[in-house]
Amino acid sequence: MTRYGSIEGGGTKFVCAVGTGPEDLAATITYPTTNPEETLGRAIAFFHEHGPLDAIGIATFGPLDLDPSSTTYGHVRRTPKPGWSGTDVIGAFSSSFDVPIGFDTDVNGAALGERRWGAGRGLDTFIYITVGTGIGGGGVIGGEPMHGLIHPEMGHLRLPRHPDDPYAGRCPFHGDCLEGVASGPAIEDRWGARSEDLGSKTERAVEFEAFSLGYAVADLVLALSPERIIIGGGVMHLPGLLEETRLRMLEALGGYVDSPALVDGGEAFLVAPALGNRSGISGGFVLAERAVAGLRR
Ligand code: ZN
Repeated sequence: MTRYGSIEGGGTKFVCAVGTGPEDLAATITYPTTNPEETLGRAIAFFHEHGPLDAIGIATFGPLDLDPSSTTYGHVRRTPKPGWSGTDVIGAFSSSFDVPIGFDTDVNGAALGERRWGAGRGLDTFIYITVGTGIGGGGVIGGEPMHGLIHPEMGHLRLPRHPDDPYAGRCPFHGDCLEGVASGPAIEDRWGARSEDLGSKTERAVEFEAFSLGYAVADLVLALSPERIIIGGGVMHLPGLLEETRLRMLEALGGYVDSPALVDGGEAFLVAPALGNRSGISGGFVLAERAVAGLRR
């Protein structure tokens, strides 16, 4: 049996797994994301311990250089995350393992995982968004993960603001972009409590959150015409947020996009991930498989 290594690299934690696929795991490990040497070193040690491997798939936070013809292919681009700018992620693994390595963003990876085993099954064009420590969006167009200029950065969309919300936002690049006002840290900053501890502020927080997310998904519907949008991440556990976001999305679209998927309230259109928090690690397996087939991203 082919044995793969899979990595879901998040800004807060790294998840590594070894197995033939997400339904047949031989070993997994989860640990906090610290500096690149320690964080990647732990993954390499884990893969050595549970090898040999036939391929490795890495779905990680970025921004990333995903252009296979670039001299810095596989590196992390300029990022506010301390110590990670310029990190050669692929090099760290290719110097330790002589196997094909697939590499893509955490959200493109998650989209591939959902397409194989979850809420994206049977779809050629759809989007996956995660709303957590950061906000990221990736997806699949015509059956392939979305790339292009670099890769989508849907978390940094600039959107109308809720008229009652004076919060300045916290994105170091844009202030009040989507991630700047709607990520987990933005909620904590804005309301003085983490999204799971908002108490009596929950309703108002959900209203503001859904306002931003609703505009974001509406804009994505208009720009990319996805067959479905899968939206997950820790913040989406706020009670009523998914339902409220659907309403705001439809309001923002103003009845213009004429599709049966939207007229019924969008319940089957804007959905939670079917794989829960396992979308990313599942996607790492798809990336490993793609690497064996000669596709490096
Ligand atoms: Zn931003």
